Amino acid sequence: MTIVRSFPKGGIHPHDDKDLTRDGAIWNSAIPPICIVPLRQHLGPSCERLVEPGSRVTEGMLIGRAPADGAHVHAPVPGIVRRIRTIWSPECGECEAVVIELSGAFSKLGKDLDARDWRSMPRKDVVTLLRDLGVVELSGNPHPLHRSLQYARRAGVSRVVVNGAESGPYLSSEDRLLREHCAELVTGAEIIAHLLHVEDVVFAIGADKKEAVRRLRRELSERESLARILEVGTKYPQAAVPQLLRSVQRKEIPYGKDEREVSCFVLGAATAYATAEAVLFGKPCVERVVTVAGGGIARPGNVKVRLGTTFREVIEECGGLVASAVRIVSGDPLTGFEVTDLETPVTKTTRGILALTQSEIRAAERRSCISCGRCVRACPMGLEPQRLYKLIEHGWQTKAEAKGLNACTECGCCSHVCPSRIPLMQRIAEAKSEHLLDYRAELQNTQFGNQI
Ligand code: SF4
Ligand code: SF4
Repeated sequence: MTIVRSFPKGGIHPHDDKDLTRDGAIWNSAIPPICIVPLRQHLGPSCERLVEPGSRVTEGMLIGRAPADGAHVHAPVPGIVRRIRTIWSPECGECEAVVIELSGAFSKLGKDLDARDWRSMPRKDVVTLLRDLGVVELSGNPHPLHRSLQYARRAGVSRVVVNGAESGPYLSSEDRLLREHCAELVTGAEIIAHLLHVEDVVFAIGADKKEAVRRLRRELSERESLARILEVGTKYPQAAVPQLLRSVQRKEIPYGKDEREVSCFVLGAATAYATAEAVLFGKPCVERVVTVAGGGIARPGNVKVRLGTTFREVIEECGGLVASAVRIVSGDPLTGFEVTDLETPVTKTTRGILALTQSEIRAAERRSCISCGRCVRACPMGLEPQRLYKLIEHGWQTKAEAKGLNACTECGCCSHVCPSRIPLMQRIAEAKSEHLLDYRAELQNTQFGNQI
C-alpha cells in the first residue's frame, strides 16, 4: 500500500480544474514577431542593459548583465532591438525592458545539441554556468539558482527534495514536465545534488500524479538511482516549502527560518528541467512552460513560450478568449496577480495565464468580519489571519510581527475561505514588504562563489 504524507495544520481543497490541461501534451508556442524582455525577472536587482536601439542580437545573447546576486537576462529570439521601454510586471514590479523584433536565424531552437559531460567539470564551473545562463528558481520564489545553491552549501544541507506537488489550482505544467521530461528532471536533480555534495534525493510527488510517478519510478530504476519517491497529499498548499518539508521531514521549520534549518534544499520540477537544459546543452533561460487555462480560454493547455511573448499572443495561441472571460490572472487564482494590460510579457516567473469567468472569480460584495474563524482553521502556518489583518489596519506593524506576520507564506487560503471576502492575504503580503527589503539587503551583503 502506498503511504501518502501531508501536513497536519490547515489547508484547503479548492476546485482545481486541472482536468482542463493536465492530459494534453506540452506544445511549442509560435515565435512572436516582437519580444518584450524585462531586465529584471526574479526577486533581486535589475540587470545592467548591454544593448541599444538598433543593436542586433542573436538567440541567447546576453542583453542584461546582473550583479553577483542577480540573474542575467538573454535574448529569447534573434533580431533587432527596436526600443527600450519601462514596463510593469506583476511579479517583479517596474523595470526597463528591451523590445526585440524577430529576424535572423536561431542557433539552438530545433537543433540537435551534444550533451556536456557535467560530471567531469569542477563544481564551481557548473555553478558559474548556471549563473551565466540566468537560471532562477522557476517554481516558487524566483531567486537566482546560483545564490540559493551558495546559501544551501554554506548551511550544509544533506537532502535535496524535488518538489513535484502542484502549486495551485489550474496549474499543471509541473505534472506535464514530470510526464514528458522525466529523464531531464532526474538529471537536473542529480546535478544539484552533486553540487551540494548530497546523496539523499527525494522526489515528493502529488498523489494525484499517478502517471508521473510511474514514469519516474521507471527512470530511477533504469539508472539504478538511489533517489526515492514519496507521494504527498493533494491538499493545498502542499507545494509550499514549509508544508512540503513538514510532509517529507516530519519537522516544522522554526519560525523565522527557512528550509536549510531542516537540512534540505527544495528544487522545483521546472527548475530541475531548466538546470539540465543549461548544464547539458548550454541553453540560457529564455523559455518556460506556462499553463494557460480558465473558463475564458478557448483551448486550454500547457505551452512552451519564449520569454518576452505577450499575454495577448499566448492567449491567441490557445484559441483566444471566449466571451465570458472577465479577469486575466498571472499565476494561480489564490496567489496570482490580476493583469489588465495584455501586452504584459511572460517572464521567468510566469507560471500560468488564467482567463477566469464570473463564476470562477467568486465575485461577491465585501462585508465585515463575522468572526467565523474559517481563516484560522484554513491557515497552514497556524496564524490568525483576521487578527493580523486588524493589527495591520490599525498600523500596529510590530504587534503583527509578534503575532507571526513574517511567517505567512502568502498561500491565500485565508482569503479563499473568508465568507466576507476580506482581502486578508493581500493586506498581510503588503505589510510583509519591509521584510522583503531586508532580504534583498542580505543578498547584497554576501559575496558570490566562495562556497561551492
Ligand atoms: S496567506 Fe498567510 S495568513 Fe493566510 S492562510 Fe496563508 S499563511 Fe495563513
Ligand atoms: S474568515 Fe473572514 S469573516 Fe471569518 S473570521 Fe476570518 S476574516 Fe472574519
